[in-house]
Amino acid sequence: MQNIKAYNTLSRKLEDFTPLNGKKVNMYVCGPTVYNLIHLGNARPLCVFDCIRRYLIHAGYDVNYITNFTDVDDKIIRKANEENVKASEISEKYIVEFFKDSDGLGVMRSSVYPKVTENMDAIIALVAKLVDKGFAYENEGDVYFSALKFDGYGKLSHMPIDDLSSGARVDVSEKKREPLDFALWKAAKPGEPSWDSPWGKGRPGWHIECSTMSEKYAGDTLDIHGGGQDLMFPHHENEVAQSEAATGKPLAKYWLHNGFLNIDNTKMSKSLGNFFTVRDVAEKYGYDAIRFFLISAHYRNPVNYTDKLIESAKASLERMKTCREALEMAVANAASSSEKISEEVENFTAKAKQDFDSAMAFDFNTADAIASIFELVTSVNILLTKQTANKNELLKCAAVFDELTGILGLDLRDNGSEKIPKEVTDLAEARTAAKKEKNFSLADELREKIKILGYNIEDTRQGVKITKI
Ligand SMILES: [Zn+2]
Repeated sequence: MQNIKAYNTLSRKLEDFTPLNGKKVNMYVCGPTVYNLIHLGNARPLCVFDCIRRYLIHAGYDVNYITNFTDVDDKIIRKANEENVKASEISEKYIVEFFKDSDGLGVMRSSVYPKVTENMDAIIALVAKLVDKGFAYENEGDVYFSALKFDGYGKLSHMPIDDLSSGARVDVSEKKREPLDFALWKAAKPGEPSWDSPWGKGRPGWHIECSTMSEKYAGDTLDIHGGGQDLMFPHHENEVAQSEAATGKPLAKYWLHNGFLNIDNTKMSKSLGNFFTVRDVAEKYGYDAIRFFLISAHYRNPVNYTDKLIESAKASLERMKTCREALEMAVANAASSSEKISEEVENFTAKAKQDFDSAMAFDFNTADAIASIFELVTSVNILLTKQTANKNELLKCAAVFDELTGILGLDLRDNGSEKIPKEVTDLAEARTAAKKEKNFSLADELREKIKILGYNIEDTRQGVKITKI
């Protein structure tokens, strides 16, 4: 295992990765505002920080991974009012949808998913602390953070205060003193959900939730704070100001930001008609192609999405899958023996592991890590054509293959891009149970139902095999 280096946005330098508490890593990645299906831009931080997390686990770290859900927000409230339902109905619905996409993309579940509505007391306590310390002020039920009172404001985005200030927008409805000041608490407006606070009824501003939740679930200082580059200013800059003003300690030791995702070299936006939800793209190309596409670039580089590029990513992934399947078949057909693993196989598997590790240890370079897996694919394909490999060699290749692809969250043994729907697997289980009870007419009926849903069911020696018709 090599020493890990990470590029820290705060210092703008590549630094040795040394967590604060030995093998424990507290990692916070800003989560979604749950009012809609997530889009391709949201999928990028999900996948890249999942790879970083998996690699750290592989490197022996115990990772506490925190993702928040913003479940009170203007967009949620607007949508709820349009649909004449409660804001919580909207957020709950889209949390369920979020998990469908996040699980589909092969993202490990976070250790915790705190919600704003479930952490209101802690949020109010932090706002009150900032008011007490003189970093925030109240004005007609709103509470604002005085950005200029915090020494070091702008240190994360590396922008001079004057530049930040001239770019800041002051909405006429806001009651703040300076353009860079930002809301910690907003007084209740008619038709909005609200909570009691020392400043009257209201709801939190956006940034304060992340400061509150990172402190609650990881203490004063995180090891890693991650998120998209688009969140660096103002969101992350404001998180730094709030947390550090409150605790006097750094909010995070390492700040990691992923690059932008463009569509056909332009910014994705609804008005340009180039807005893609993960769900839409998954239906066309499969979730695993999206994941593979997104991690094929270094996380800090911009990614350009086009149909052609995702098709080519899908084809590359297929090449990996085909190799892994051929390996599986060769293992199944090889006789067990105590034959030794040849030097050739030892060498190319060791090289793949070493190259992979070097790539990931050097600022989590998934692009180079994937290249090392393709070298392994080439070597395995040559080995399989020669038909000289013994079972131990094949098993060794398969184990290394699975280890490396697993760190990138790619499941190559899951043939086809689509997961079998739960409805189908439930029916299949019911059919197996019916067969056990010798209720063959029910079993046949269930097989027909599965067929109607577009799947074939076959009994093999290894168990039930479900395939798409
Ligand atoms: Zn955040």
